[in-house]
Amino acid sequence: MYELTVRSAFEAAHFIDGYAGKCSRLHGHNWSVEVIVRGTELDKLGMLIDFKILKAELNRVLDELDHRFLNELATFAEENPTAENLARKIFEQLAASEIFNGSAKLYAVRVFESPNSCVTYYE
Ligand SMILES: [Zn+2]
Repeated sequence: MYELTVRSAFEAAHFIDGYAGKCSRLHGHNWSVEVIVRGTELDKLGMLIDFKILKAELNRVLDELDHRFLNELATFAEENPTAENLARKIFEQLAASEIFNGSAKLYAVRVFESPNSCVTYYE
């Protein structure tokens, strides 16, 4: 089994509605996002998936979130833009991508709210 990870980042503001503490106030993060792909078969070149293709797909998803006030986005109309919900939504968007049509399977998405705090979502 091979496991491959790419990392990218975006900047965005949010607040946690209903939270008893400072996070209920508007603030921003430099969010860092890792995508983890697993598979057993390599292509002719000896790759599980091209890092460049995977990173481009991740950046396509993150562009929608970059420099946004996350609470205002339609995707967060019904729930708080927590690291947990971000990780699941990014996973779901990536899972629908056509780049995972070979051996490479999307395994997990990890969202870092800070260098020391992250959430991992997988199915
Ligand atoms: Zn926050």
